[in-house]
Amino acid sequence: MVMGSLRQEAELVVVGSGPGGYVAALRAADLGREVVLIEAREALGGVCLLEGCIPSKTLIHAAEIVEGAKAAEALGLRFAAPEIDLERLRRWTDGVVNKLSGGVAQLLKRRGVEVIHGRARLQGPNALSIQGAGVSGLDFKRCILATGSRVTPFPDAEALGIWSSRQALALPEIPRRLLLIGGGYIGLELGLVYAGLGAEVTLVEFAPSLLQGADSDLVEVVIEACQRRFAEVLMDSKVTHIARRGDGYTAQIQRRDGEIIERAFDKVMAAVGRRPNTDDLGLETVGIEVTAEGFIPIDARCQTQIPSIFAIGDITPGPMLAHKASRQAKVAAEFISGEPSAFDNRAIPAVVFTDPEIAWTGLTETEARASGRPIKVGRFPLTALGRARTLGRAEGLVKVISDPDSHLILGVGMVGSGVSELIAEGTLALEMGARLEDLMVTIHPHPTMSEAIMEAAEVAAGSAVHLPKPR
Ligand code: NAD
Repeated sequence: MVMGSLRQEAELVVVGSGPGGYVAALRAADLGREVVLIEAREALGGVCLLEGCIPSKTLIHAAEIVEGAKAAEALGLRFAAPEIDLERLRRWTDGVVNKLSGGVAQLLKRRGVEVIHGRARLQGPNALSIQGAGVSGLDFKRCILATGSRVTPFPDAEALGIWSSRQALALPEIPRRLLLIGGGYIGLELGLVYAGLGAEVTLVEFAPSLLQGADSDLVEVVIEACQRRFAEVLMDSKVTHIARRGDGYTAQIQRRDGEIIERAFDKVMAAVGRRPNTDDLGLETVGIEVTAEGFIPIDARCQTQIPSIFAIGDITPGPMLAHKASRQAKVAAEFISGEPSAFDNRAIPAVVFTDPEIAWTGLTETEARASGRPIKVGRFPLTALGRARTLGRAEGLVKVISDPDSHLILGVGMVGSGVSELIAEGTLALEMGARLEDLMVTIHPHPTMSEAIMEAAEVAAGSAVHLPKPR
């Protein structure tokens, strides 16, 4: 590398420092590559760490403490209503984010990864320009693009002062009445945060249900929880008009039957999806074509149609999830380093950190039934699980979807308190090609929530001892 010149050279350049980019840089450096990482922002960690997964989970934890204190009344423990010090909560959340972001910087530094802060744009198959940095460009042998995604803007959001998830996560205030548009991952997670902190939340979702893609028996449990916590949950509905009125807003909402209702709110937040950051990467200069939705097609090595350029994370087809990006990061870094690595994963788990949480991995029951393949589903209700009872959290279920002949596990779905920590066992079962018997004979510690997976496998195999014997 020629230091101090306007143009640098790098064996491998990684663009973006989220859970895709920074993991790729670390892995490649460990495998002996000379790595330069380019990040447009001041801080490292990307959306996940700075304004997504990490701050949202910190706030969800805070909201759950409030809800837990309320629920404790049933056990004879009565707490006064919480006093919420927003400034302190913001500082706490920022502290969590800053520690993790600083940790990423340290990890990169200790491996000798050079970090350049600026905006990269491809100029050719082995060159990119950098805006806003001391160097104007970089010539590379290989490049991994990991530029992530951004919020899909809601019409007139800026003019009307409608919050995006990024703005809502900064906790500017707790509005008395909050209109939340979009019942996907972000809408539900942040809606429950604001409801927990005292807002009256009205949720409006286009589709007839919440959380598209998840099985309805799992989603139903979350809908019930939202109906208890939110002022209103309006599905099959759309916001047709929003106007500012005084310090707040009025919104017209069209219901399923065509009826239009009008409501007043103090604040509006929209979480209607995310789009890949591929439009300003200079892809056209190398002839990389994106899909209609803007994703970069890749092969199992995360290689694009241009052999020197790789893409990982939210800019590639498939779910926009940090753990998908991190796995792809390792695959790309290893392949570039001559290792026989491929993204041949059987399942990418999905987790929504609602309360109760919902998680699934592998085939969903809906997908299996739509494909017409025969399946055997074992469903274990948490009402029958000792640990769930001790926690006062018996709502929810765990189900195991299996092949009726071979007993091969095809998918696992769950909804319940803390199930985000259980889904990895289902994904491991899928990766190992496990059968129902593998889950059934594995000793699961008692009393824990993890027993529900073993129990669900027993139900699927017809040998459950903790449920009434089927007639
Ligand atoms: P989403 O795609 O999950 O949900 C958006 C929802 O908004 C959909 O249900 C859609 O029908 C609805 N919608 C769209 N336009 C609407 C309108 N005009 N009126 C009413 N409803 C409308 O998107 P998101 O919640 O913004 O999250 C984006 C992505 O971020 C997710 O797909 C997920 O991959 C990722 N994410 C993951 C997690 C997690 O893993 N826990 C958390 C947050 C975000």
